[in-house]
Amino acid sequence: MTLSEKDQLYHWHPYTQHQTTGLLPAIVKGDGALLWDENGKEYIDAIASWWVNPFGHSNQVIADAIFKQLTTLEHVLFGGFTNKPAILLAEKLMEILPSNQKKIFYSDNGSTAVEVAIKASLQYFYNKNQKRTKIIALEDAFHGDTFGAMASSGITFFTEAFQGSLLEVVRIPVPTSGNETTSLQALEKMVQTNEFAAFIFEPLCQGAAGMVMYSPEVLDKMITLCKANSVFTIADEVMTGFGKTGKTFAIDYLETNPDMMCLSKALTGGTIPMAITTFTQEIFNGFLDEDVNKAFFHGHTFTANPTGCAAALASITLLETDEMQKNIERIHDLHLDFEQKIKIHSRVKTTRILGVIFALEIKTENQESYYGTLRNKLYQFFIENGIVLRPVGNTVYILPPYIITNQQLEKVYNVVEKALEIV
Ligand SMILES: *Cc1c(COP(=O)(O)O)cnc(C)c1O
Repeated sequence: MTLSEKDQLYHWHPYTQHQTTGLLPAIVKGDGALLWDENGKEYIDAIASWWVNPFGHSNQVIADAIFKQLTTLEHVLFGGFTNKPAILLAEKLMEILPSNQKKIFYSDNGSTAVEVAIKASLQYFYNKNQKRTKIIALEDAFHGDTFGAMASSGITFFTEAFQGSLLEVVRIPVPTSGNETTSLQALEKMVQTNEFAAFIFEPLCQGAAGMVMYSPEVLDKMITLCKANSVFTIADEVMTGFGKTGKTFAIDYLETNPDMMCLSKALTGGTIPMAITTFTQEIFNGFLDEDVNKAFFHGHTFTANPTGCAAALASITLLETDEMQKNIERIHDLHLDFEQKIKIHSRVKTTRILGVIFALEIKTENQESYYGTLRNKLYQFFIENGIVLRPVGNTVYILPPYIITNQQLEKVYNVVEKALEIV
């Protein structure tokens, strides 16, 4: 049996209807932007393996840091103890996070980072005997698949089976160009009710929705509105963090700062599952009391895993190098050139660029569903051509690892252009 056949025997894959899914390529090696399957077929990983892998596969610097940590102290519980890599990472984060972020809470993945932010928001008001029990989120948002994160997510077919078991979340329109006023007015109405604990958003770019973008100016206004009405703001930077938008964090484009931030995905350069939720001192102080019950009773077994922290520290150090910063600019410039060329194509509806993120919407007769026929046809075409891209509905996006070569990126562009001819 091949690995692909054995996989079919044993595995249940994420977001997969197995009734209609065939054998999946079994990847056996990765190097830089490239992956190889068991038959030796080569793929360019043009979405950095779901946005986690900006420094390339099998990165030696991160691997060395992990090896060193594994052979010094692989893990120690964070309940009742601390560890050195966690402290070094916290110090590093304090240098790069907005100055109002003072406390670091560790967990394991993007969804848990969001759960932590939501639970802290709700308990903050509970501790103060204030009844603020609801959350505000954007339409088409994606914040993860656990219950709180899922409740905040607006991609309906991900969550419809669970309606009725979810936290109360009210959704407002995404403030995309032309919709700023509608969105701001909806937010204003919500925050004035004093029923909401927090407003959660993916800053500037909604990844899973298909790289839907909006401006820093409108987000500044939204955060200001929330602050004026004592509603906490949660910037879910799980996708946008660590250079994707051209700055370290998307909120670095803003004048205002959010109260909480969620980080994961590229945090450890795609090596070890880890996540962080960061807080202001004010929120942290809301849990201080002689009464033990006011503490935040949330934790995960692998909290602040030293190996994960060492990997994150190595990743951030890589991100800060001139070489990596130049790579981000280089990819951004190549995207701009490609956009000039492709936007006049008769099948292209719109294009969007932010940092290393490039998105293109294909003109279609009908509204395309998330995992619809067009999407599946495109996906298969890309895989056949050795490119890993996961279109969303009629949107094709590229979010390459920063170390992708010009030649590899040109190949991705060429295949995207060819794809426009087959649809
Ligand atoms: C991927 C993602 C999550 C969920 O992260 P997981 O690690 O898959 O749980 C949350 N928020 C955003 C913005 C994401 O892109």
